[in-house]
Amino acid sequence: MKNSRRDFLKRTTVGALSLGVLDAELLRAAEQPTQSVPQVFAPKSLKPSTFAMDGISKKTMEEHHKLYVGYVTKSNEILDALKSVDLSKANQTYSALRALKVELTFAIGGVKNHEIYFDHLGGKGGKPEGRLLDQIVKDFGSYESWEKDLKATGLAARGWVWLAYDADRGTLFNYLGDAQNTFPIWNAVPILALDTYEHAYFLDYATDRKSYIEAFMRNLDWKVVEQRFAQIPNLK
Ligand code: FE
Repeated sequence: MKNSRRDFLKRTTVGALSLGVLDAELLRAAEQPTQSVPQVFAPKSLKPSTFAMDGISKKTMEEHHKLYVGYVTKSNEILDALKSVDLSKANQTYSALRALKVELTFAIGGVKNHEIYFDHLGGKGGKPEGRLLDQIVKDFGSYESWEKDLKATGLAARGWVWLAYDADRGTLFNYLGDAQNTFPIWNAVPILALDTYEHAYFLDYATDRKSYIEAFMRNLDWKVVEQRFAQIPNLK
């Protein structure tokens, strides 16, 4: 059972490679273990509304969700491995402790980023309202300027764009990430997450990321983003 699953994943991976759609995230998902470990993280299901979106297919969402579940599995596995790691062998060039702690940020990043992403999709687009709109206008000049910056940052990123609130400065900014764990800044809370990895759009748009970003905007549920913003502690 274990071997046949691995063989299937290997075949899928090779197939994806030949199509040119393989990215590092898909490779990592193919390496998911089958053993069970204690659950610290538990995967959330997709909302029904994400299966009927405008321009992002059900198939894309189903496959994307599988990658997310892989991050949940790996987060739990790494946290479990850390319980028995040999602290006396800690080393900055290579050590099990170092490897586990570095990859834990990638795995948990994959969980958190995708939960924001899936959670605020399935809506009808439009614009934010109330306090969030006020903050966007304050920090970007207008909603249109913010959107222009987000879309451009989406073309410049290799993994993610986050609209996040820097709780120290009291400002919103469109941060750019090349992977699940790059490049956050301390005490900035993400309220919107745009996945720009190829797996998020290749099935629907091939290399046309620009059209995917347009589709992402059309399906945003701003109420969810507004709620996430309102829940930030010490909002200035
Ligand atoms: Fe993703």
